[in-house]
Amino acid sequence: MYRESWVEINLDALKKNFEYILQKSKKELICVIKANGYGSGDQYIIQTAIESGIRFFAVSSLDEAIVLRNEGCREKILILGYVDPKDIDLCIEYNISTTVVSLDWLKEVIKKDVRGLIVHIKVDTGMNRIGLKKIEECKEALSLCLQNQILPEGIFTHFACSDDPNQTLTLKQYNRFVEQVKSLDYNFDYIHCDNSDALLSLDEDFTNYGRLGISMYGISAHDKTLHPVFSLYSAISCIKEVDEGEIISYGATYTTTSKEIIATLPIGYADGWLRKNQGRSVYIEGELAPIVGRVCMDQCMIHTTKFYPVGTKVELFGQHIPVQEVAKDLETIPYEILTNLSERLTRVYI
Ligand code: PLP
Repeated sequence: MYRESWVEINLDALKKNFEYILQKSKKELICVIKANGYGSGDQYIIQTAIESGIRFFAVSSLDEAIVLRNEGCREKILILGYVDPKDIDLCIEYNISTTVVSLDWLKEVIKKDVRGLIVHIKVDTGMNRIGLKKIEECKEALSLCLQNQILPEGIFTHFACSDDPNQTLTLKQYNRFVEQVKSLDYNFDYIHCDNSDALLSLDEDFTNYGRLGISMYGISAHDKTLHPVFSLYSAISCIKEVDEGEIISYGATYTTTSKEIIATLPIGYADGWLRKNQGRSVYIEGELAPIVGRVCMDQCMIHTTKFYPVGTKVELFGQHIPVQEVAKDLETIPYEILTNLSERLTRVYI
């Protein structure tokens, strides 16, 4: 690591979050590590999850699942998204469970010899993304699986608004799901509907598993007791006094109003530190220092009140500035901030 900007992943905090959520939700967990564990580095997350007793992982695509297998993951893996029916043999070869995204998909899949394929039936209870909507479709899917020696080991749905304090829509989806599953009268090993926010707010005991993503990193709309796992840091690479009336950075969008101390950080929008951060503040030794002028591709400037030594550590978010605050200021969600931290930022695990 030669560049002084990095993402710190606190595995102790991660473990505490796993233990807390396991205990609070009273469910087994499927650890959702799509997009390389929301940008944290899936290998470390898997290891910590296993230490906490979690043995089931979910990803978004066949590519992500095969990467995990090639990295040596021998645990259960479920693909939550679409797999092209022409590639379905790979799910059998790599022992990866996959999702029945529609009845048409299943009809295409059974044109091949798919004995031994393991699937979870996705029920669309209202999000209208993927899944089977009607009870008759679910029944047909189940019988097609059984006729073709496909193992329907699980059934699930996904909530659209579980972060909303008003649970009306979530409960509507939940009740539909319960009705659909009961009507199938089949003994699924894995019944799951709750993502992080539902795991931490919906009091239900119909399902036996939950799919945990964002809250393992300490982020929840409903629970403020979790521990932050992600921190983004940089360190001052250059610091100087600039006269009154000087412009800072591209486009001359900031002009100093007096003599100002301006420090440069080696982090920019190619790291996922977006231009919209201009005007927000970073944390440096107890001081909140505003980002002045445009954020460049690899650098940005901050206005400090003191001359800090080159190399002084600066927090962009993490322990003092919650990532939720960054997301709110940038009119987005923490998921987008985390998954956009680019690969060139070294991940440091503590
Ligand atoms: N289940 C499905 C189908 C998902 O798409 C996701 C994430 O987008 C999750 C679970 C995990 O959601 P969360 O990160 O809100 O826990």
